[in-house]
Amino acid sequence: MGLKIKEILEKEAFTRENIISLLECAGEDRTLLFKKSAEIKEKYIGNKVWFRGLIEFSNICSKDCLYCGIRKGNTNLTRYNLSDEEILTAAKFAHDNHYGSIALQSGELESPFVTNRIGKLLHRIKELSDGELGVTLSVGEQEPDVYKRWYNAGAHRYLLRVESTNQSLYSKIHPNDSKHDFHRRLNCLKSLQDIGYQTGTGVMIGLPFQTMDDLAGDLMFMKEFNIDMCGMGPYIEHADTPLIEYSEILMPLKERFDLTLKMIAIIRIMMRDINIVAATALQAIDPIGREKAVKIGANILMPNITPGKYRDSYKLYDNKPCTDDSVEDCQSCLEARVSLADAEVIYGEWGDSKHYKKRLNKKRI
Ligand code: SAM
Repeated sequence: MGLKIKEILEKEAFTRENIISLLECAGEDRTLLFKKSAEIKEKYIGNKVWFRGLIEFSNICSKDCLYCGIRKGNTNLTRYNLSDEEILTAAKFAHDNHYGSIALQSGELESPFVTNRIGKLLHRIKELSDGELGVTLSVGEQEPDVYKRWYNAGAHRYLLRVESTNQSLYSKIHPNDSKHDFHRRLNCLKSLQDIGYQTGTGVMIGLPFQTMDDLAGDLMFMKEFNIDMCGMGPYIEHADTPLIEYSEILMPLKERFDLTLKMIAIIRIMMRDINIVAATALQAIDPIGREKAVKIGANILMPNITPGKYRDSYKLYDNKPCTDDSVEDCQSCLEARVSLADAEVIYGEWGDSKHYKKRLNKKRI
């Protein structure tokens, strides 16, 4: 007979089997898991939440990921690219409202134009905020020298979800060509870490063909890779994507939601001091989904500060929430949610990953 959940939770490190047991637990065991992760968050992070003002600056993408609403092959949406001024106005809004950081996210494009543009924008964002705004980038796979250039221009965190660490599953949810190469994605993560970024990754939860063993492997990868930040969320179907044909084999949305909370709780226990995002996709399933994630381990929220008229076009999945909110609505609604979770929004601080700082100190010794 395997260990009881209580015994597993007392262990210093989890085996793959332990993680699977935690992912499958229910009832009182599930309550124990969430209690433990909440205690660890309280002890190592405090009951705090930091904002990253999210600017989804373009939905133009050169990739064709089989799950994603902004994939190149989807002709059923209006493509947009914010002007530099629109991006800077959004960054100024974040700074004026004392958000410590912004996150710039877009579809994936690699070109000298994109490299220069983002480099220049980073300089101007640093200028307009007197260096006060922290910047996370999430613009996909790039060459190491491009990452380096952006790092030198002031970006200091990078979020690149690996999507799944099981290569066989990865190849079922992406086209099998050089543009969607699993090893390149891993190499990109390695470059980001080597350059000095606070490096974040994550996976989608509840994908077709995904097993508990896959998810346990994902969490073990994150620990082994020594990530600083984690952003994971439920997979949600999009009608205009090829994966929609597997809707019938998916677990119900509520189960995907619950499994995501468990993934967050387990990674909080495994990696006590990393930053963990409460993903927007949680709210697409449960109106207080992000608040629930904050309660059991997440400490980062990303209020959407993309100008409202573009939000409808950054639909990664169906029923994406808040696409018709104004920027101000988004902030006050999130603040109310955070206090519901008995946590406090910390303004005017970057809210860097404590794990990153410790990792650097260890490297120096
Ligand atoms: N292209 C960049 C990249 O891959 O890092 C950033 C933009 S991409 C749209 C951001 C994330 O959206 C992806 O990493 C993926 O996990 C998530 N995503 C895309 N389609 C999704 C879906 N149908 N359900 C849930 N999340 C989705």
